[in-house]
Amino acid sequence: SSAFAKLPDAAGDEIFAVNHAFTIDPHPQKVSLALGVYRTNEGKPWPLPSVRKVEEKLFAENDINRHEYQAIEGDKVFLKLTRDLIFGFNGRTESLAEKQAKRRIASVQTVSGTGANHVGALFLAQHLKPKHVWISNPSWPNHQTIWSLVGVPRKTYPYFNSRTRSFDFCATIDILDSEAQEGDVIVLHACSHNPTGIDPTMEQWIAIADLCEKKGLFPFFDCAYQGFASGCLDEDAWAVRLFFNKQPRMEMCVAQSFSKNFGLYGQRVGAFHLVTNGDSAAVIDLVVQNLCHIIRGEYTMAPRGGSTIVRRILEEDALRKEWQRDLIEMSSRIKAMRRALLNELRILNTPGNWDHIINQSGMFSYTGLTLKQVLALKDRHHVYMVKSGRASISGLTESNVLRVARAIDDVVR
Ligand code: PMP
Repeated sequence: SSAFAKLPDAAGDEIFAVNHAFTIDPHPQKVSLALGVYRTNEGKPWPLPSVRKVEEKLFAENDINRHEYQAIEGDKVFLKLTRDLIFGFNGRTESLAEKQAKRRIASVQTVSGTGANHVGALFLAQHLKPKHVWISNPSWPNHQTIWSLVGVPRKTYPYFNSRTRSFDFCATIDILDSEAQEGDVIVLHACSHNPTGIDPTMEQWIAIADLCEKKGLFPFFDCAYQGFASGCLDEDAWAVRLFFNKQPRMEMCVAQSFSKNFGLYGQRVGAFHLVTNGDSAAVIDLVVQNLCHIIRGEYTMAPRGGSTIVRRILEEDALRKEWQRDLIEMSSRIKAMRRALLNELRILNTPGNWDHIINQSGMFSYTGLTLKQVLALKDRHHVYMVKSGRASISGLTESNVLRVARAIDDVVR
């Protein structure tokens, strides 16, 4: 018999499976609220106008080096710009404090946010050797997969309180305070927590940072929605910068994705930044060397097509401004669709309180629908979402929101 006949069951990713079921459903008015991708009011993908402009420029420039290998660590200019974007440095005026702060950070280019999470997890598993990694319950399911692949025992903190439909701050602090051990890693969502759409308040973030310091935990920020969540790059980076600027200095890291905020999903653009507590160039050098060792063994270097686009937008003022308008367009449409859905549910007098739809932020709403209701939405109404009841709001449009509201109304009655 085959050497692989006794493989463990490893069913494919639920989100992509639901998306497949949606794709093959012939119903003309089917709606997908499954995949976390931006769609226009016509339900179409949206290559950002700022991205398109750069693509045309790059094509016209016809640089003969454009398909050459780059360094193992990636494009250094791209890395500086993306570091500045998340940590809040201004590329031009550079104070002494800012110079020193930059010297704390080792950066490498990755295969998008997933690759940044993986490279970071593997690096920490090998060199920090945490006893556990703490992941929110619920979380982006891939966090569990990524940390299990690198062999670090996983624990969860009780992020979501389904009764109050809010962040369970007290339960989270309690369990970390009583059970987390020095050197443990804690995975934190920088903004727009996936799947709940609920983030800690500023006061709660401050308390979490204090707890990490007190217990000696290593914060691992996953940042997949900077600028996409609120429309403001600084607001969405607030928690990362709080930890980064904390005194005494903490060591921490950030996995940065450009899938959503540049609409470059399939291009796989990302970065991993590891922050040290000193500003020793020798330590940074060692960190980069060891990250490069992992990268070389796994995929040699991140792809350069998408990262060149991001670099050009971040380095040219006019393009950067245009991109910021694109971010506002995307985040505003999502906010408008949240309001529209809530409004329709109110008009229909749908049982229950649905205010959370507008109180949550970012790509997703954790609707509170049960598994049975989610299945009924699909079977009776051809409206698709994942089993947890997480709805990707950008699948809503002005022309399908009433249909979706009626479908929800039907399955909850
Ligand atoms: N982390 C979180 C929390 C996410 O939601 C996503 C996107 N679904 C990612 C990381 C990374 O996605 P990508 O690899 O496409 O950048």
